[in-house]
Amino acid sequence: MTRIALVTGGMGGLGEAICIKLAALDYKVVTTYSPGNTKAADWRANMREMGFDFYCYPCDVGDFDSAQQCVTAVEKDIGPIDILINNAGITRDMTFRKMDKLNWDEVMRTNLDSLFNMCKPVCDGMVERGWGRIINISSVNAQKGAFGQVNYSAAKAGMHGFTKALALEVARKGVTVNTISPGYIGTKMVKAIPSDVLETKILPQIPMGRLGKPEEVAGLIAYLSSDEAAFLTGANIAINGGQHMS
Ligand code: NDP
Repeated sequence: MTRIALVTGGMGGLGEAICIKLAALDYKVVTTYSPGNTKAADWRANMREMGFDFYCYPCDVGDFDSAQQCVTAVEKDIGPIDILINNAGITRDMTFRKMDKLNWDEVMRTNLDSLFNMCKPVCDGMVERGWGRIINISSVNAQKGAFGQVNYSAAKAGMHGFTKALALEVARKGVTVNTISPGYIGTKMVKAIPSDVLETKILPQIPMGRLGKPEEVAGLIAYLSSDEAAFLTGANIAINGGQHMS
């Protein structure tokens, strides 16, 4: 039986690596893109050239109706979702004193409301079928706090409370729910940080002295998605090069 994995924000730096890894393991991979994303068709064509035929659906993960419509369409066109990777996320970094309500709301809706919006339409089906994997992508900055990221740290920390509570509720139903908390990974989100800040402020904090690779995170997701990970639930797994140990 081929399992179906839905990866939100699969066209981003981490998401793409996750899609590629899961496809290489023979999962049917579906990804979402923001309704306004004009590069989605190019990304899909590019992936096809590389030998990956991903299903792609528009979805604003911060909007309940959009998430519902997306899941309904995927389940009608392809089949029930066995694995949900809540990967879509944004930053709106600035100090709290400069942060306005919009910067707060945008980050909360995309990073935290999205968990409710995406899990709600898939969770019952997973429970009924007796098998499911939900993996939420948080951040090291939720575990340790980060200057200029009150909104992001709060939203990403909220993910783990969500994970633990939902994990308890579905533990006897074959559904696992976990969070992973990556440190700095070499994606466009991190490469947008000015290079002097990266060299002088970020890399010195990482005992391994380098950024993580998207493929390293994708490998962890592949494990959490597998049958072998059936006894692992409610966890928050750090993958950060030793930057923060808890
Ligand atoms: P990217 O910016 O490369 O990708 C983010 C993805 O999220 C994009 O594909 C984007 O899609 C999607 N997205 C944003 N807003 C929405 C929305 N409202 N609805 C649907 N999709 C949306 O980021 P990364 O790949 O670097 O990060 C992926 C995840 O990992 C994020 O949750 C991030 O917080 C987390 N993370 C990343 C780290 C890193 O070092 N890179 C470290 C720790 C955590 P589109 O382009 O179509 O808008």
